[in-house]
Amino acid sequence: MAQNLVVLGAGVSGLTTALLLARKNSGHGSHITIVAKHMPGDTDIEYASPWAGADFNPFTARRPSENNEELRIAQEFERVSWPEWAKLASDVPEAGVGFRRIIQYRRKKDAVRPPSEWLEPCWGIHEMPDFRMLEEDELPDGIDAGLSVTSICINVTIYLPWLVSQCLKYGVVFRRAIVQNILDAADLHHSGKKADVIINCTGLGSLRIGGIEDKKLCPVRGQLALVRNSPLQNPTMYSISGTDDGPEESSYIMHRPAAGGCVIGGCRQRDNWESQPDPSLAIRIMKRAIELDPSLVPEGRGIEALSVIRHTVGLRPQREGGLRVEKEVMESKDGKKVRVVHNYGHGGAGYEKSYGSAKAAIRLVEEALVAKL
Ligand code: FAD
Repeated sequence: MAQNLVVLGAGVSGLTTALLLARKNSGHGSHITIVAKHMPGDTDIEYASPWAGADFNPFTARRPSENNEELRIAQEFERVSWPEWAKLASDVPEAGVGFRRIIQYRRKKDAVRPPSEWLEPCWGIHEMPDFRMLEEDELPDGIDAGLSVTSICINVTIYLPWLVSQCLKYGVVFRRAIVQNILDAADLHHSGKKADVIINCTGLGSLRIGGIEDKKLCPVRGQLALVRNSPLQNPTMYSISGTDDGPEESSYIMHRPAAGGCVIGGCRQRDNWESQPDPSLAIRIMKRAIELDPSLVPEGRGIEALSVIRHTVGLRPQREGGLRVEKEVMESKDGKKVRVVHNYGHGGAGYEKSYGSAKAAIRLVEEALVAKL
């Protein structure tokens, strides 16, 4: 596959797609250009990937009904991605991915699916290492059920530059540009020739890029605090099904590998574009984290014992109907046909699903290249 490819977007979706494409082509990525407005190292509200926690914590473990294609695809992308994450955590320390124990708590009052569904016959968290339901005497007050599993945490400040360095190693060329229309990307291949395929990995950007303007996309705002309170040995990460502070607020704790700090969250505020942290939400987030794991601070202490590095905000690129991995042939103003493959709309699980969705997108690139224009 030595045709000229332009990958539009340098978040986790674009970088993973470019890397897997470059590796597939016997390690020669010199035909691939990554074009993006933002690159790893940038921090901008339009760029989701630097703001993620990030962990692999599938919440999709229930049997998809016949017409629930969205859930079936989400589970498939997680199933394909998990071994890649496990391999990075065990064999590639420089990628900034580490194994972690995760505990998920459930409260009946959150009206979530019953814990029995955690064991349904489909791909889900129960397929991951060391999965077990918590015994009753392991549940804190107010918690009705829980599970424990071994998963991973990604230090995104290391992982994104690692993806860039891997792409560079395989000859991928990086280029900064802002495209107004998706078809403009066809003229941005570093060879100066037209791209044979554009792979659109622009996340929330696809809401506004001309030629796409996908109205199914919307931001789901997340606010996090990054603190220094991480144990040195075997930190456990936690999440809970709900909070008493309203349906848009959530509570979870992640410990990034390589002293990346402890990430505490959070919220899921739909259609909220606000880029600045809300100070009162920040206090609620910190209080809830201490309730979830009291060992974060010395006994009897409160949020004043959290050593805050920063409060951050990011926008998850949510898409009604699920993420879009599709191909199409588009026509430019001068009547030229252009092949486009989409890989965007990963919501709050863009790392978790990145390998599965990138592999699916690459299959579509291969199909598009052999099909007549
Ligand atoms: P982005 O990272 O947004 O990248 C889009 C790229 O497209 C950028 O390079 C941008 O510059 C480029 N672009 C856009 N428009 C244009 C244009 N017009 N011209 C040129 N370039 C353009 N996921 C998990 O798996 N686990 C987690 O624990 C997790 N936690 C999260 C916590 C928070 C607070 C948030 C906000 C997200 C979290 N996510 C998590 C979700 C994850 O971060 C996203 O799903 C993922 O980063 C999306 O990546 P992307 O590459 O598709 O988009």
